[in-house]
Amino acid sequence: MTIEPAEHAQSPGVARTSRTTSRPDIAPRYESINVHNFEDVPQVQALSAAQRHDIRVVAHVLPFKSNRYVVDELIDWTQAPDDPIFRLTFPHRDMLEPEAFARIDALLDAGASAPEIKVAADEIRLSLNPHPAGQLDHNVPSVHGQPLPGMQHKYRETVLFFPAQGQTCHAYCTFCFRWPQFVGLEGKKFAMREGELLRDYVSEHPEVSDVLFTGGDPLIMRTKVLETYLEPLLDGNAAANVRTIRIGTKAPGYWPQRFVTDEDAEDLLRLFRRVVASGRQLALMAHFNHPRELETAVAQEAIARIRRTGAQIRAQSPLVRHINDDSDALARMWQLQAQLGIVPYYLFVERDTGAHRYFELPLERAWQIFRGAYQQVSGVARTVRGPSMSATPGKVQILGVSEAAGEKVFVLRFLQARNPDWVGRPFFAAYDPEARWLDDLRPAFGEDEFFYEAELREMLAVQGSPWSRDTQVVPTAAGD
Ligand SMILES: *Cc1c(COP(=O)(O)O)cnc(C)c1O
Ligand code: SF4
Repeated sequence: MTIEPAEHAQSPGVARTSRTTSRPDIAPRYESINVHNFEDVPQVQALSAAQRHDIRVVAHVLPFKSNRYVVDELIDWTQAPDDPIFRLTFPHRDMLEPEAFARIDALLDAGASAPEIKVAADEIRLSLNPHPAGQLDHNVPSVHGQPLPGMQHKYRETVLFFPAQGQTCHAYCTFCFRWPQFVGLEGKKFAMREGELLRDYVSEHPEVSDVLFTGGDPLIMRTKVLETYLEPLLDGNAAANVRTIRIGTKAPGYWPQRFVTDEDAEDLLRLFRRVVASGRQLALMAHFNHPRELETAVAQEAIARIRRTGAQIRAQSPLVRHINDDSDALARMWQLQAQLGIVPYYLFVERDTGAHRYFELPLERAWQIFRGAYQQVSGVARTVRGPSMSATPGKVQILGVSEAAGEKVFVLRFLQARNPDWVGRPFFAAYDPEARWLDDLRPAFGEDEFFYEAELREMLAVQGSPWSRDTQVVPTAAGD
């Protein structure tokens, strides 16, 4: 099926026809497309042999999973391999360094065994900085003296929770920084089973107002399983300090049927209503990378159903070369989100992991693209903040390039920080047209280090979450 160009789908209120909803008598079943079966897909068979070969080689190293909805309704195959949704979900030759590509290529050619290929693939994966920004070691909280590897508590108000059974997705984004957990790399999977431990932890931490369920994608779980995780937070008064329950999810983009035709879709919506009835905000932190994901009838139906439960949808995305590095596409996406009742939330800078060399952009370019899009939308869509780097000290926004004291500088500020006192202070880095991440930046005006660095070193010297009672970290935040 061909897909009309996105511009043609812009008339307000008009969704593109969807194969899924044009046959309401047949509930579409989720069908995964991966390295083992992608060559059976008719649209893939129409690609050249060389293109199929490239996909096969890269898919042996980086995670690859798509599904029928993405393949049939989101990818414009007339534009493959340049189509943005194709790039979002299908491996591309340039995602690996040429030597790495050649190595796997040669092994496949020689008919190497699966274990042989795995050894080479693991070596390449380990060279791709699988755990950036100190995520594993520094933010793990503990309760009853026991570390909780399925949780992260980096910013005072918000605890991240990784339900063990939600560590996969309906399709994988090729840029995803969570890729190590999808390829089973050295068992470093953030996971834990008990919602009770989560409740115990947040109950002991009155400063926590938000719990963010993340993954993978927690909505990969059946409703019954998700409910088991949520139950302890909803029962009684134990977690009364939790005002907002957030669920990070790509389901509205990759599998909107989750809310419409899946067997337990109605149960899921009922669960959402139950969270709302507990007096809390339920926020779906939805990942949308491209306006096309919002244009199908089934996606719009899913969004409407979610909103009718009283849940809010907030939208975030990284800015990714080859996929959405285009002000007009971002502006269309934010406008459409606002129109559908979704709050645009964050635009992230692509992280320093995985195939980042293929996807990353210079910070200056990221800021220009952001600004070019932000200028085009009305105030209701300017709730989006970015471009923002989720780095070791916090979420750092690039406010822009400017001049101060005769020097060309980047103006930056923290949107989130390990120490809340760092948030909202403008600070300056020397201008560098090549800089792609916070680590590439040096302080402006010849200063030795950024204002937060000495304190950050002290914080990192102590293992565990900065908010864990087992650590010696004493934040200097006023009002703490
Ligand atoms: C982004 C993020 C959060 C949530 O931050 P908000 O600004 O409240 O959305 C929480 N924890 C970590 C580790 C994060 O990266
Ligand atoms: S949906 Fe989110 S977690 Fe899943 S692959 Fe995409 S970016 Fe990663």
